[in-house]
Amino acid sequence: MLQVHQLYKSYEDAKVLEEIQFSVGKGEFFGILGPNGSGKSTLLKLLSGIERSSSGEILLEGKPVERYTRKQLSRSVAVLQQESLPPVNFTVKEVVEMGRYPYQNWLGEEKGNQAAIVDIILHKLRLVELQDRSLQFLSGGERQRVALGKVMAQQPKLLLLDEPTTYLDIGYQIQMMDRIKAWQTEEKMTVVAVLHDLNLASIYCDRMLMIHKGRTVCLGTPADIMRSELIEQVYGTTPIIVEHPVHQLPQIILQQGGSFIE
Ligand code: ADP
Ligand code: MG
Repeated sequence: MLQVHQLYKSYEDAKVLEEIQFSVGKGEFFGILGPNGSGKSTLLKLLSGIERSSSGEILLEGKPVERYTRKQLSRSVAVLQQESLPPVNFTVKEVVEMGRYPYQNWLGEEKGNQAAIVDIILHKLRLVELQDRSLQFLSGGERQRVALGKVMAQQPKLLLLDEPTTYLDIGYQIQMMDRIKAWQTEEKMTVVAVLHDLNLASIYCDRMLMIHKGRTVCLGTPADIMRSELIEQVYGTTPIIVEHPVHQLPQIILQQGGSFIE
């Protein structure tokens, strides 16, 4: 589905990404991890075609991303940005409908049944009661659900997520991740998600890439990544690794006084 070869990105003289190389198979749930400022959001912007790499190649279904037109690209790839939707004066339903833009002609008309698709999504995300409410009168968690609705309406093959759970409490974090996972499984969609919570990443991702200062530190399964010495090297704190009693996957427990970042 996605192949990344020898990717480099610099802003003026600052190197942000170097020698990034990985591929993601169809239907895979792939995580991108790393400390603040390690280049995760930049990598996602390159994958989505929002920004160009300095060198290297990104192939989407075998074709370089820059060879897609914006409309073609938005039929294949949807992005859920780090900031949830701004509290603007659009209704919930209008925002979900905006996700259909890639399927409309220049008059804003669509061949298929747009209303049905939008209704199904509003139902799935329990947004029916909120559909006529303006975004500015929603909580952060509700706005994030609407943002997910908009990308669902896009019916992408590849979904890119930048820290989709950052501002959510634990209940909404799991709800958000479960909805994404259920949708991914149903549609055999490919997901690439930047996640800052290692424990959440371990539970939901098939494989992950850990980057540090723009370079790959590890590419592998949760068991390959969730190792004490690796996390110590990257994050400057030594966690305790335990096995999740239900999912049988590695989880980290933080300990007091373990930081050695100057
Ligand atoms: P992360 O998402 O992992 O926290 P980012 O990809 O946002 O990290 O940023 C990685 C580095 O690239 C940071 O040092 C940041 O300051 C720098 N950077 C990001 N975008 C730009 C830009 N448009 N111009 C210059 N530097 C940038
Ligand atoms: Mg970021």
